[in-house]
Amino acid sequence: MKYFMANWKMNGDRSFWYNLAEQTAEQAKKFKADRFVIFPPFVALADVENALFEADKNMFLGAQDVSDEESGAFTSQVSADMLKGMGCSYVLVGHSECREYLGQPDELLALKVKAAQEKGLKVVLCIGETLDEYENKESIQVVVSQLEKCLEVSKSPELLAVAYEPVWAIGTGKVATVEDIKPIFESIKKTLLDKFGAKGDNVALLYGGSVKADNATEIFSVDEINGVLVGGASLDATSFVDIARSAQF
Ligand code: PEP
Repeated sequence: MKYFMANWKMNGDRSFWYNLAEQTAEQAKKFKADRFVIFPPFVALADVENALFEADKNMFLGAQDVSDEESGAFTSQVSADMLKGMGCSYVLVGHSECREYLGQPDELLALKVKAAQEKGLKVVLCIGETLDEYENKESIQVVVSQLEKCLEVSKSPELLAVAYEPVWAIGTGKVATVEDIKPIFESIKKTLLDKFGAKGDNVALLYGGSVKADNATEIFSVDEINGVLVGGASLDATSFVDIARSAQF
């Protein structure tokens, strides 16, 4: 099974979300063996859930962030229980835009992973190095450290996927080469095996960063990669589902 995950970020409006969800679900039906997950903005969750309701079971709903707290005086935050109540089964944790613009450090992300998994949500943990770190050849060291810190208190490899997204490749049109990413995915796998034993082998590994139909075949040629997390190209149903089409080869 391959994973195709759509991060819509802070784009669109009510009619756009509904139409995009419906069109994506309709086109994704052709790829029954694969799993599609849509991460719309929080305010779109109800509409997107309705649009997906009639769709095939290969479409799942996720949220772009989750609070580490259960409930209470945490203005603006959204809890794991609330997300489950809205039909979410997935949540993104540690997207580089949340790390950078919301100042979310690894220690907080570890608590978010725990809070989400304790409620049965599947966490897609995002890790990735900046351009400076890449140029200084620190990519492996940075992603392994992020992974270890963010999983410090997680006990649920069965509720985990890891998305490696080099920050310099997100929204830039630059895609890391197979030579760049292969050793990174090997290190991620080793870290997961060290932490979770044999169960670490079942954690799905995704690549993200300017993925499109014309680079998907090459990305999926890396053995360790089980899926992709897609930003820009997921805002059009055909460009998004075309990635799944390319990944069949
Ligand atoms: C992302 O934001 O997770 C992402 C991968 O974006 P893009 O595909 O636009 O680079």
